[in-house]
Amino acid sequence: MSNSERLFAEAQEVMPGGVNSPVRAFGSVGGVPPFMVGAKGAYLTDADGKEYVDLVCSWGPALLGHAHPEIQSAVHAAVDRGLSFGASTPDEAKLGKLIKDRVGGVDRVRMVSTGTEATMTAVRLARGFTGRELIIKFAGCYHGHLDSLLADAGSGVATLALPGSAGVTAATAAETLVLPYNDRAAVEAAFAEHGANIAAVITESAPCNMGVVTPDAGYNKFLKETTAKYGALLILDEVLTGFRASSSGYWGLSGKDEGWNADLYTFGKVIGGGLPTAALGGRSDVMDYLAPLGPVYQAGTLSGNPVAMAAGIAQLTHATDEVYAHILKQSTALQAKLSEAFNEAGVDHSIQRAGSLFSVAFGTSAKGVHNYADAQAQEAFRYAPFFHSMLDSGVYLPPSVFEAWFLSAAHDDEAMEKIFAALPAAARAAAAA
Ligand code: PMP
Repeated sequence: MSNSERLFAEAQEVMPGGVNSPVRAFGSVGGVPPFMVGAKGAYLTDADGKEYVDLVCSWGPALLGHAHPEIQSAVHAAVDRGLSFGASTPDEAKLGKLIKDRVGGVDRVRMVSTGTEATMTAVRLARGFTGRELIIKFAGCYHGHLDSLLADAGSGVATLALPGSAGVTAATAAETLVLPYNDRAAVEAAFAEHGANIAAVITESAPCNMGVVTPDAGYNKFLKETTAKYGALLILDEVLTGFRASSSGYWGLSGKDEGWNADLYTFGKVIGGGLPTAALGGRSDVMDYLAPLGPVYQAGTLSGNPVAMAAGIAQLTHATDEVYAHILKQSTALQAKLSEAFNEAGVDHSIQRAGSLFSVAFGTSAKGVHNYADAQAQEAFRYAPFFHSMLDSGVYLPPSVFEAWFLSAAHDDEAMEKIFAALPAAARAAAAA
């Protein structure tokens, strides 16, 4: 029995499914998930001493690579000053300012601890500010595990093929309208019918939780214009894409050039440098509706935790243009090698992109993937054999076809060559499925 097998068996005695977050259980790809004991640069090391090139990067946070020396030393210094003070600390506004300076329309920032809290607060704030109840979300988008946004959600909900979650009341579900992504007519029809009671549209700025789906040209701008026309807010969920798709998130690839800002944004992952921090930000008149200035309540014992702030500041300070250029270059090279291997093996596929983020969808070359229905209709069964072949060759991919692939500044040419070398056999395994 390997160490990971033993650890997984022990974990299952203590935790539901042996995990603290569902996708880690390898439910859709099968097999025993390797338990990780170390991470450095582009590599993970499991409990049996096997090394993997990591294409998950902690699901996004490890932008600079694992255990980046500048982040590690900032964290060590913060730890030496104390772990948590339960009072305001200087670094909170400093990290807030780094976010504000990079993303248009972020006048104010509130730190929270997880992306779920950020979207939950954004939804409550939108309802409090507008005095309206309905929220529009798009099928296949994942915004965390708050009740009101679990319907037709992506990520683990998609991986487990669930329509939503048990435990969400019918009344809560009825306050969310779920529409197909990239479908302007559906948005127009919903506003025509319910416009006076729609508080907000929440959307991933580029969906990355049903696999990656590229927004149609001008789609986010259309959402901004439509919400503005009806007095609703646009909440751009950049928890995954923020400070990753570009130095100013996916907004930097859309709103920045097109001349629009969201009313509210949510961030997470990258801004915590690997520690639990997330944030919401946006227009000051909306953000000032939060307590203590306004009537919308939100709070957190560990919000703005000083160790997490130090990690986030170090991360964003070192996330230079060169870092983004490097990640995009390696991502583009990997996408080309991936297509080459699949074409060689005769595997029909398409690759969807959002900045340096991308994913593969099988059997979709004819029309690509534009929404959740397209993502679900793909030949998803080809992913498990592909994934396991890569894992055997020492490449750690997201254990679900409905997730994005992540690279980091530490993915040098040597790491990339290891990935490239593993691709032909894995593509043949996908072909044989
Ligand atoms: N929004 C998006 C777009 C996400 O990708 C995620 C997490 N993958 C979340 C929200 C929730 O963040 P967290 O897991 O930190 O609660």
